[in-house]
Amino acid sequence: MTVRHLVARWWWSAVALVVLACQAATATPPPSPSPTVSPAPRSRGQFDGVRALEFARAQCAIGPRPTGSEALLRTRAWIEQQLVQAGWEVVRQETTYRGLPIRNVVGVRGQGRPVMVGAHYDTRPRAERDPTNPEAPILGGNDGASGAAVLVELAYVLDIPEGLQVQLAFFDAEDRGNIDGWPFAVGASQMVADFPVARPEAMVLVDMVGDKDQQIYRERNSDPALNDVLFAIAAELGYEGRGFYNEPKWAIIDDHIPFLEAGIPAVDLIDFDYPAWHTLDDTCEQLGAESLERVGRVVETWVEQGAPLRPEDRSPSPQE
Ligand SMILES: [Zn+2]
Repeated sequence: MTVRHLVARWWWSAVALVVLACQAATATPPPSPSPTVSPAPRSRGQFDGVRALEFARAQCAIGPRPTGSEALLRTRAWIEQQLVQAGWEVVRQETTYRGLPIRNVVGVRGQGRPVMVGAHYDTRPRAERDPTNPEAPILGGNDGASGAAVLVELAYVLDIPEGLQVQLAFFDAEDRGNIDGWPFAVGASQMVADFPVARPEAMVLVDMVGDKDQQIYRERNSDPALNDVLFAIAAELGYEGRGFYNEPKWAIIDDHIPFLEAGIPAVDLIDFDYPAWHTLDDTCEQLGAESLERVGRVVETWVEQGAPLRPEDRSPSPQE
């Protein structure tokens, strides 16, 4: 897929060069006998789970990435580099909370109705559920790297429809909750309190989505209509009963809560059946490319269908 992409890119560059050369040679082009046909827009390709897994491993290679750490700064630099390379505008939001810097990042692309896809990229400073070393920081292969990896791969493959603006939000300080009196979702709360980009009409959160044994159920706090849309897409892609389960199970406090409290429809796509949660076993070894690809393709399809908020907003003939 990458090779085909490169060839396609080379081909169009060559066409562009030829067009430029022709324009340089003739100041006024001859009248064309028929209406000009513009080439069909090129697709950026489809979400690739293998590549998403590499993006997760790149984060695990940095080590634990808690709020306020040097490692988190390195992770932010890596995320921003990927966003720029994929053609996105980068917007930073820097605040403080209880003496620590909070660093949110948003990639922005397209113009029109704003919608957000979010993930936290910080990792938990203490593995309080670990039986042997509960004071050590976790690597956050699933709880941290998986969601951010899905967003980075989306940055490369999303074809954004006319009239839509997509915001890829990387939240800091989700996972310090119940440590030193911190709540969860501090970065997301600060974003909702003062959006550095246009206030989104909806937010889809991906968190802990890469477990090889993937079980994404309907999270109970999430917006029901938006959840209907996302689980319908998952079923159309053939994932019902294979990673996605269209029935309610857990109610989770996560980065979607401040959005819901502000009246923004939000969904948490999360696999909370994860034995390594908040232990030192939460490494990138837990992740599967197929799992990342399933959740990535659901979000990709949602965006490329125009990010409908309710089932009745979906066009009668979806493109899949
Ligand atoms: Zn966590």
